[in-house]
Amino acid sequence: MEFSKMDLESMEKKLQDMLTEKRYRHSLGVMETAVEMAKSFGVNPEKARLAGLLHDCAKDIEKNKRIPLCKELGVPLDPIKKESKGLIHADLGAKMLETEFGISDPDIINAVKYHTLGRENMSDLEKILYLADIVEPNRVPFEGIEELRSLCKTNLDCAMLFALERSIDYIQHRHKTLHSQTLQAQQYFLEVCKEKVTG
Ligand code: FE
Ligand code: FE
Repeated sequence: MEFSKMDLESMEKKLQDMLTEKRYRHSLGVMETAVEMAKSFGVNPEKARLAGLLHDCAKDIEKNKRIPLCKELGVPLDPIKKESKGLIHADLGAKMLETEFGISDPDIINAVKYHTLGRENMSDLEKILYLADIVEPNRVPFEGIEELRSLCKTNLDCAMLFALERSIDYIQHRHKTLHSQTLQAQQYFLEVCKEKVTG
């Protein structure tokens, strides 16, 4: 296929062996949602398909193996990521797109890399993966999910603001560490959405 020497079916098979059944189902849901969103926002749907399918490829690696594997593959981690090991799967997964799935396209790799924390100036593909991850049909519904789903059909920036604010709330309520990159992303989308509303 266009972005890898592997075909989609082999990637699916390989991924299935790397993930729990539940996480594999989630990945297929994200893939389908991301493709649909890509088509409606004029983003390359094949990039969205691969990013969606593979975004959590590193998430079922045992916690104590993640940091050594990052060292081995040369994936840099900041102190917060080293501390909250749940965050590592994004950076590690982005690297494994190259090493395990033969993908070198930077757009796909960045979408996976930023799907957990977000960042300022996200590309549309990055926004689509971040959002599809949250609204895919297998997700347990949460308050506001329908509002977010409808924003995902109309305005990616406002959907991002909504999703980031929900995520920040969630982190603060659970007294987890909030990464500065997520706060910067929220500030960024706040500005973008203000401009859109006030013209
Ligand atoms: Fe993830
Ligand atoms: Fe996910």
